[in-house]
Amino acid sequence: MPVRTLGRMTKRVLLAKPRGYCAGVDRAVVTVEKALETYGPPVYVRKEIVHNKHVVETLTERGAIFVDEADEVPEGALVVFSAHGVSPAVHEQAASRDLRTIDATCPLVTKVHQEAKRFARDDYDILLIGHEGHEEVEGTAGEAPEHVQLVDTAEDVEKVTVRDPSKVVWLSQTTLSVDDTLIRVNQLKNRFPDLQDPPSDDICYATQNRQVAVKAMAAECDLVLVVGSQNSSNSKRLVEVALQAGARASYLVDYAREVDPAWLEGVETVGVTSGASVPDILVMDLLSWLAERGWPQVQEVTTANEKVAFALPRELRKVLASNDLKGSVR
Ligand code: SF4
Repeated sequence: MPVRTLGRMTKRVLLAKPRGYCAGVDRAVVTVEKALETYGPPVYVRKEIVHNKHVVETLTERGAIFVDEADEVPEGALVVFSAHGVSPAVHEQAASRDLRTIDATCPLVTKVHQEAKRFARDDYDILLIGHEGHEEVEGTAGEAPEHVQLVDTAEDVEKVTVRDPSKVVWLSQTTLSVDDTLIRVNQLKNRFPDLQDPPSDDICYATQNRQVAVKAMAAECDLVLVVGSQNSSNSKRLVEVALQAGARASYLVDYAREVDPAWLEGVETVGVTSGASVPDILVMDLLSWLAERGWPQVQEVTTANEKVAFALPRELRKVLASNDLKGSVR
């Protein structure tokens, strides 16, 4: 694509691909939409279905009610569990209140839950690398609280105590920085040389692909704008990865209107990407905003083509299939 030259400045936008929605987020958002269509509002959702302000606001307008805990949901009502997963205690709490549940936990988070359960059953100490307080970490740790220790910072590595150093495994949150996680693993391996790796990558394909794409363009960028919310782990990691990979500056914004024009002073190349919970319409808005301010040329930087898709939660598939059947015999 031709690059426009303004005076001595070559203003261009590099647009990362893949970016935005991953298969787990798409599935979770569609789950709430289908639940609203099928059962009518209100549909309760425990925690933000995905960590994106725009998605939560849009679903709220359509009749979703977001709550922090299952005990805020009226007895017998329908509640959707978010893509980040829940611990068994939350399932029990919902059952004790006779709630009807749809579990929109991403299958790749469920995979980490299964690993935690399996290693706990085999009596391992599990070192879970992740961010303290993040919902996903709470859900995974809740599968085997007596076996799991959270490792967030380098200081946490020093604090870990294990019963048998030959029976220790590390697992991780799905949305971490790949490079930072390797650093943490190496620190742990210095303390526990027999530390076992997870059976397969816990950091998911979408997190990894978005980091690879932003790395491929960051060194050429004076500024990298990441569209995403402050509570979105994978979006925040993209800012860090961009800076580590050579971008001169990088910021996280929910909307184009949050971009401070001062960030663009002296900038030729702007990199744009978005977190896994971000609808592409918000990226398109940002591109229009940049075009209006002198950056109309966009070059896509593609490092992978994603084709992953997940089936809707079983509870919902059953109802949708039976509705289809009723429709066809009418
Ligand atoms: S970021 Fe990864 S783990 Fe999280 S919802 Fe998307 S695919 Fe699933």
